[in-house]
Amino acid sequence: MRSILQRGDKFQPLPTDDDRLDQQIPGDLWKKCPKCSELIYTRELENNLRVCPKCGNHFRLRARERIEQLVDPGSFVEWDAEVRPADPLEFSDPSGAYSDKLQATQRKSGEYEALITGFGTVDGRSIVVAVSDFDFLGASMGSVFGEKLTRAMERCAEAGTPLMSVNASGGARMHEGLFSLMQMAKTVAAFARLGEARVPHISLLADPCYGGVTASYATIADVIIAEPGTLVGFAGPRVIEQITKQKLPDGFQTAEFLLEHGMIDFIVERGDLKRTVAELLDHYARVHQVDRGESIPWQPNLARSNGVAPKAAKPGKKS
Ligand SMILES: [Zn+2]
Repeated sequence: MRSILQRGDKFQPLPTDDDRLDQQIPGDLWKKCPKCSELIYTRELENNLRVCPKCGNHFRLRARERIEQLVDPGSFVEWDAEVRPADPLEFSDPSGAYSDKLQATQRKSGEYEALITGFGTVDGRSIVVAVSDFDFLGASMGSVFGEKLTRAMERCAEAGTPLMSVNASGGARMHEGLFSLMQMAKTVAAFARLGEARVPHISLLADPCYGGVTASYATIADVIIAEPGTLVGFAGPRVIEQITKQKLPDGFQTAEFLLEHGMIDFIVERGDLKRTVAELLDHYARVHQVDRGESIPWQPNLARSNGVAPKAAKPGKKS
């Protein structure tokens, strides 16, 4: 009897579902949806723009994946790739020096900075994109991030080319202290000049967008779009609950909540993004034609926004 009880290695407890799942899924072949737990074949996920085919969860994208999905193949020309971040404060905290973290992040992410800027076309329409990469120190806005964005805006203002920023960020880069905080004022001032030049800025908020990025340039765009389920805020919900000592409403800080409360203009599913951006660019091009006093033919397909036809004005009533 004792010998039976001692044959422990033959009667190991069965692995739990989660253990077995981890053992059976080669990391690069299948992905598990964090929202619905569905196992998705990686190639199927890629073909579906990294949106879960079962529940519609929008997986996070790296900056270059976003650019690839957004602009026409072969049209992207990167700007200021050689501008690299420095460590002006020689900052370090108990987890290590900022300069070491930068180098390690650059090696791991394959990028020099958390923002990629450049020129491309969307269905043949010119656009400048500034896309943040959350895998690079949480896409925090340091001095080079702000500088690259400002340079992109200045070129847009000069050439009259619309700018689209894609923003998923944890906020300011604390390792750069005041130099990082200054980027909020610097980018907002540059966007003001872009506005004076009557060049549109389209902002796409992607999950998650927080802190100094939400509190500066990402939310002062002419059109603010968000992907479904994106979380957007300044401080996170847990911090707000602790400070205000109040229970926050369901769905707080989701794109759907922000749309209901008028903070964003619309929510666009990833599969519709390129078409929507192209329509917005056409709309602004028409506005500029009107500015120049040119007559433009009526193009009913441009009136659609987000797939919803505008309501016809009732005769005799002021709209
Ligand atoms: Zn899912």
